[in-house]
Amino acid sequence: MINTIANTPLSYTLLNALPVAVYTCDKDGRITWFNDAAVELWGRAPEKNKELWTGALKILKPDGQPLPLHNCPMARAIKEGVAIDGQEIIIEQPDGKQVIVLTHPVPLFNDDGVLTGAVNTLLDVTEQRNSERKQAMLAAIVTTSDDAIVSKTLEGIITSWNGGAQQLFGYTEEEAIGRHITLLIPQERLQEETEILTKIRKGERVEHYKTYRRHKDGTEIPVSLAISPIKDRKGNVIGASKIARNVYKQQLAENTLQQYAENLELLNTIGKTISENLDVQEILQKVTDATTTLTGAAFGAFFYNKLDEQGESYMLYTLSGAPREAFEKLGMPRNTDVFAHTFNGLGIVRVDDITKDPRYGHNHPHYGMPTGHFPVVSYLAVPVVSKSGEVIGGLFLGHPEAGRFTREHEMLVSGVSSQASVALDNAQMYEEIQKLNSKKDEFIGLASHELKTPMTSLNGYLQIIDRSLGENDRNKVFIQKALLQINKLSDLISDLLDVSKIEAGKLPFSLSTFNLPELVDEVADLMQYSTKTHRIIICSDIHDLVVHADKQRIEQVMINLISNAIKYSPQADMINISVSASHDKAVVTVQDFGMGISKEQQERIFSRFYRVDDLASHISGLGIGLYISKDIITRHGGRLYVESEPGKGSTFGFEIPLKQQ
Ligand code: ADP
Repeated sequence: MINTIANTPLSYTLLNALPVAVYTCDKDGRITWFNDAAVELWGRAPEKNKELWTGALKILKPDGQPLPLHNCPMARAIKEGVAIDGQEIIIEQPDGKQVIVLTHPVPLFNDDGVLTGAVNTLLDVTEQRNSERKQAMLAAIVTTSDDAIVSKTLEGIITSWNGGAQQLFGYTEEEAIGRHITLLIPQERLQEETEILTKIRKGERVEHYKTYRRHKDGTEIPVSLAISPIKDRKGNVIGASKIARNVYKQQLAENTLQQYAENLELLNTIGKTISENLDVQEILQKVTDATTTLTGAAFGAFFYNKLDEQGESYMLYTLSGAPREAFEKLGMPRNTDVFAHTFNGLGIVRVDDITKDPRYGHNHPHYGMPTGHFPVVSYLAVPVVSKSGEVIGGLFLGHPEAGRFTREHEMLVSGVSSQASVALDNAQMYEEIQKLNSKKDEFIGLASHELKTPMTSLNGYLQIIDRSLGENDRNKVFIQKALLQINKLSDLISDLLDVSKIEAGKLPFSLSTFNLPELVDEVADLMQYSTKTHRIIICSDIHDLVVHADKQRIEQVMINLISNAIKYSPQADMINISVSASHDKAVVTVQDFGMGISKEQQERIFSRFYRVDDLASHISGLGIGLYISKDIITRHGGRLYVESEPGKGSTFGFEIPLKQQ
């Protein structure tokens, strides 16, 4: 019958123009007619009156399993003589594209009720199904997300609430939907919601907004928010969706990282400062302070492993986090079981609650901590052991709350304590060297003092003999040579005595006001007598330069510089001396044309007993003249310096302040 309808021009046009696929089969299933929409759906045009059931070459069940053509809905409708309403199948087009269709085959009968075929309508629902699938997927993502995903109206009323939101904020979906979003906002942050909504109304997103939100139980949770506007089909903003992520762990990780970086920096600085330090007290104070900070202890102390006369208490050395008096009046820790482990160097003791430790509280008279003692519950003690294995002492850290010290703290303190051991070993060695040094100074002082007396008498006796000899006596020349040597010897002894006085800080000064160029002239004249090889020339013509200084000591410096200039320029024959004024200073220079001094030696020649080995080794001297001169000039508020080039000569100069008018 359909053939008849379709064959009329109007029906034909109508059916062909329908956007829905329609086709017919005869009672044996042969395709008799189909419209353009059907061709488009199948992706091909089947051969009429020959191909069976469907124009598609391959069909599938909705789950993707193949469906034999003779089992397709059209076949069933013809075989069973009943209409099948809305069975869903998938049609695969020749190029592999799949289309989801709803089928509606209806059997056709003639007037006598005999089955003549069927007409089938195929409705393409691919887009609808895909969007349903997408929706379902999105819904599943929202439901299973760990993040809290909440939507709300522009008035702030909660419209959806996922499992993540329940997890994060503690409210169930029923409890939350319909309530105002301020339910989650701490009182002092209510303003934030207004700001966020203003942005959302303008269609803007809010991202990575770090803030705090309130849990049902009242606690505040650190969250990162991402809020987007929800728009209707016309693009009007109708609400907002909010994703909230709990950033507690992230914050914790950031804090830990920050703490780690700070600790590292502290370790670095402490390592540097204690390795550069040679003062035991300072090293231990730094170590105690650093370990107290690193562990977050309420207080820390270092105790020396030295018992008092009764073999009872350890000696407190440094303390951090509490005033020393507060501790000292309590008495020192006693030689008890708690401390024995540390002072015997048996290892680190870390206890979450020392008051519950089996070693604690057995000793008379306090049986634990004395009253008024800092309430120590968390306890960390680390022995400080020297290279030789001797337990120098122990670092003790305490906190009034239990379980404050961790394995990490233990490692940090143990690291610092081994650095401290090395530094303490060094400091001890340095102390010993210092002691030896001062013994040596003491000896030099004593020896030169003892030498001075016989030398003075010897000088006196030789002078008497000299005077008693006639001018032509042949022994006179020997006596005068002996006197010259005695003078040299007594100059040396005086220098040595000066050194020991400088070391003891007791070099006496006697200040007077005098004209410096006059003194320079006198010294130059005097020194000219002692040398036949060099001419001493005064190159400046300043005659008045008044200074307030120790005349004898300045003379001593001049003599030292001129005699060095002569001594260290054996090949030359001239020494230049100049006196000048620069700003508020008088400047004297002594220039020679001798062997010179290399750059690196220039810094050292002013140290005690230092002599340049190679070139000047055959020239006698003790290496103390410049050391004494430098001390004299420095103590006058002046400066002694050298400019020199090896092989060309040296200029030594000193500046001292001019007398104020
Ligand atoms: P001494 O001359 O007794 O060795 P000083 O303290 O006066 O001691 O000098 C220290 C060292 O500096 C000398 O040993 C010498 O090597 C160097 N020195 C000092 N003056 C000069 C100079 N004018 N030229 C070269 N080297 C010098």
